[in-house]
Amino acid sequence: MFFASDNSGPVPPQVLAALAEANTGYAMGYGADAEMAEVTSRIREIFEAPEASVFLVATGTAANALALSTLCQPFETIFCTPTAHIHEDECNAPEFYTAGAKLTLVPGAPGFDDKMTATALRATIAKEETRGVHGPQRGPVSLTQVTERGTIYSLAELHELSTVAKAFNLPLYMDGARFTNAMVALGCTPAEMTWKAGVDAVSFGGTKNGLMGVEAVIFFDPAKAWEFELRRKRGGHLFSKHRYLSAQMLAYLTDDLWRENAIKANQNCAYLVEGLRRANAPFLHDPQANMIFAALPRATHQRLFDAGAAYHLWDGPLEGDPTELVAARFVCDWAISKDQIDHFLALATQT
Ligand SMILES: *Cc1c(COP(=O)(O)O)cnc(C)c1O
Repeated sequence: MFFASDNSGPVPPQVLAALAEANTGYAMGYGADAEMAEVTSRIREIFEAPEASVFLVATGTAANALALSTLCQPFETIFCTPTAHIHEDECNAPEFYTAGAKLTLVPGAPGFDDKMTATALRATIAKEETRGVHGPQRGPVSLTQVTERGTIYSLAELHELSTVAKAFNLPLYMDGARFTNAMVALGCTPAEMTWKAGVDAVSFGGTKNGLMGVEAVIFFDPAKAWEFELRRKRGGHLFSKHRYLSAQMLAYLTDDLWRENAIKANQNCAYLVEGLRRANAPFLHDPQANMIFAALPRATHQRLFDAGAAYHLWDGPLEGDPTELVAARFVCDWAISKDQIDHFLALATQT
């Protein structure tokens, strides 16, 4: 009954098999392996971007911080939401890798979903640079898709946001740790959700969707490639035995594993949602992908934790009035079984 995050499940057997297959003989290091050439051409094909530059790193934090440092000068500021992973969960890695750029928070829409709106983005950017040489200069806009609150920007919303960024001549970056979960939920193509919507660079997440530890950073403008290459090496994220990263990503892109896993994760979550709705659990927003926020009485949380369920309480401690509702975050990965979800729901609905 593991709903703490989608990085806690196993790796699909295809990925392990690909690693075993890559584990024979010799290969050039540092990304010069044959698998990486294939990864690049597959990603260019999938994204309909024949010029795109593709790099692999082992963590999403490295992907975000290195990509943003390539798009941002130290005296600039990055526009993101208050709940952005780059703001809340990366121990200041973006500030560190950009050599001191700031993050400027764009207030989220009222309500829980915390998506950036074009209106708020325009107002926040306009307010910056009012102090000339004394203030931070305007830098990239960073969006997360799926957001940290489990919501999804529609293609129309992405277009509106990129129109604002472009009006100020600012690059648009997408943190795609859950890229494919959003893409299959929207039923769109990778190109539609990125460069066709005005996204300049994206992290194409693998780890949360079944890989052992690989994210691809994609720049649609190859002019940035060399700088990223240098920054990745300088930051200690250029892998020597790189073929083992490539092999994972290649397995991910083979036989639609990336899509299949995301579809499974979203379906598993939809199944959990259905059950929680039957139990009349209130949701903090309409579930869209594989991460949801729902409230249960404290006594129910206690029963679930006692039975070994794993997930994070969101807005309150476990101690207190046992009848009071406390919201929690639940994330489903590709691997969680219906049996596990059924077991969880049986405990959640027990009176
Ligand atoms: C998990 C996650 C990342 C990547 O985190 P790492 O732990 O560094 O791999 C980035 N962005 C979002 C929104 C995430 O959920």
